[in-house]
Amino acid sequence: MEIEIRNLCKTYGTKLVLDNICMNIPEGMYGLLGENGSGKTTLMRILATVLEPPSGSLRIDGTDLRMKHKIRQVIGYLPQDFSVYPSMRVEAAMDYLGVLSEIPRSVRRERTDFLLKRLNLDTERRKRFKDLSGGMKQRFGIAQALLNDPKFLIIDEPTAGLDPEERNRFYDILTELAEHRSILISTHIASDVEAVCARAAVLRAGRLIFQGSIQELVESGGGSNLEESYLNMIRRFREGGAGR
Ligand code: ADP
Repeated sequence: MEIEIRNLCKTYGTKLVLDNICMNIPEGMYGLLGENGSGKTTLMRILATVLEPPSGSLRIDGTDLRMKHKIRQVIGYLPQDFSVYPSMRVEAAMDYLGVLSEIPRSVRRERTDFLLKRLNLDTERRKRFKDLSGGMKQRFGIAQALLNDPKFLIIDEPTAGLDPEERNRFYDILTELAEHRSILISTHIASDVEAVCARAAVLRAGRLIFQGSIQELVESGGGSNLEESYLNMIRRFREGGAGR
């Protein structure tokens, strides 16, 4: 399983927001670090086929991203602003999202049972979405993204608003899930990446300024830990005028 991105550019109007991105995402947890506005969500929405594939070449497990139907069978996506109808009950919401993803009824039931147990939401299944805690909502978001048992899971800023305990629980689940798939997780918090990812990329104003292992990131930033190195890297590019 590998995601291959070559020469990806994306503009909004005349503004270039992704500038010639080349990236390889292998199996396991992969962090996408960058400040707000650096292009993380745009890149994820392209990979999730929410945005039309722009210029460049993108392949997921060898399949061109333009083959949307096929791609959607192998990806799961948890957007940053994920929500469902507030008064919908957990179980019904899973079923509804499964219908939208064209998952057959018997498979939907089986997967819903399995995932609600797996994500510790089994006792919440009759609760309304609006009555779930922040951590539960995030776990529900992961559960729905796993309905089709995807090989590639895309998760946009998942730890925003979670308390430390919920955050750790969330990391544990992701680490377990990453054993047989690729997981791309975006964040502007370096400690998120340090906790769970083997490799990471850093986006700065639409440009990829680093990709490699966490250890390489620490070394190339010249800091004593990941956070320091990441901030050094961002600062260096800002001062050098390498961004826009
Ligand atoms: P991040 O996820 O890193 O915060 P985004 O991908 O959301 O970054 O945004 C990258 C840039 O693209 C920002 O400058 C943002 O203002 C701009 N942008 C995002 N979505 C749109 C849109 N729909 N129309 C115009 N500009 C957009």
